[in-house]
Amino acid sequence: MMLQIEIDSLNKHYAGFHALKNINIAIEKGSFVALVGPSGCGKSTLLRTLAGLEKTSSGDIRIAGTSVIGKPPRERDVAMVFQSYALYPHMDVEHNMNYSMRLKRRPKPEIAERTRVAAETLGLGGLLDRLPKALSGGQRQRVAMGRAIVRNPKVFLFDEPLSNLDAALRVHMRSEIRKLHERLGATSVYVTHDQVEAMTMADHIVVMRLGVVEQQGSPLDLYDKPANKFVAGFIGSPAMNFIPVVTGPDGHTLAIEQDQAQHLILDRKLVPRSRLWAGLRPEHLSFTEVKDGLALDAVVESVESTGSMTFVTAAVASQQLVVAHSGRPEVEKGAAIRLHISPENVHLFDRETELAVF
Ligand code: ATP
Repeated sequence: MMLQIEIDSLNKHYAGFHALKNINIAIEKGSFVALVGPSGCGKSTLLRTLAGLEKTSSGDIRIAGTSVIGKPPRERDVAMVFQSYALYPHMDVEHNMNYSMRLKRRPKPEIAERTRVAAETLGLGGLLDRLPKALSGGQRQRVAMGRAIVRNPKVFLFDEPLSNLDAALRVHMRSEIRKLHERLGATSVYVTHDQVEAMTMADHIVVMRLGVVEQQGSPLDLYDKPANKFVAGFIGSPAMNFIPVVTGPDGHTLAIEQDQAQHLILDRKLVPRSRLWAGLRPEHLSFTEVKDGLALDAVVESVESTGSMTFVTAAVASQQLVVAHSGRPEVEKGAAIRLHISPENVHLFDRETELAVF
């Protein structure tokens, strides 16, 4: 395994505000890493410290084995693609793309060739003499990518590059960016607040909150084994349901706190009488009995269908749960139903620390 980016014990303060707290991330060469988290968690700040656009307070960043602390952006061999695209409005597509090479006074034939290859890669061949204002959002986004590609950097840094595009184009561009990343054999770090984008694009996801890395791992690791309630609620769509539960005197049963008659029999033994959150993913709740499963009595509050999927909101002992069903279940508002879930799909979190309990 060759590491392309190593972030060690990194801290960043903005005039008294601790924006990045002891960040440690190792990024393999060729991997696609997504930084996700709610607004203000520090993901853009982290990306900008990699680019050299922000100074760090302590810790180290190495790119291809060499510390880049104190090095200006142009000496880091990284290229950044911004949400705003940051295109020069008075320059046509060709000149926007090769601006950095002209600035470095690269030989003219090299500039022409690298621009041609990047334009071809991105399907911009026929648009080289257009001004940005004469391009669609998706085309502008491609020009911004082209500008990064011509520099042939070791690392691509993306700061929410798709957030200005409509939903359909965003989905299309996700796979375009991912394919491009593979074709170029690049290492990419991609900031997004959209966990679905992170799940579909990345090999490795870093979940941040309040300047701290809450958990990192492969998309399915985070989905299957969230380390705490925050990650469990952040990864997965619709979001995981949480209901307060308590373990029984023997540690083998779980009861819903508001309705102790509703018991779940556990497939493991836990500390007796502990107060926990049970985390139930909407797609794991079923209307039909599950072998050795757990059952919950519920009342249907609403039924919404997107055509392919049906989302049912149901109340279990005054707690609302969302059920995601890939079909059209025959349930209607007001009906009393039983929801079922396999014991291995019940996630548990300590009520105080919010850490996962296994
Ligand atoms: P968003 O998704 O909203 O862009 P983010 O996760 O990218 O959020 P950052 O932009 O990295 O968050 O900001 C992290 C924290 O640092 C925020 O609380 C923000 O207010 C603060 N911050 C960012 N830039 C500065 C600055 N120049 N001076 C002071 N505080 C800043």
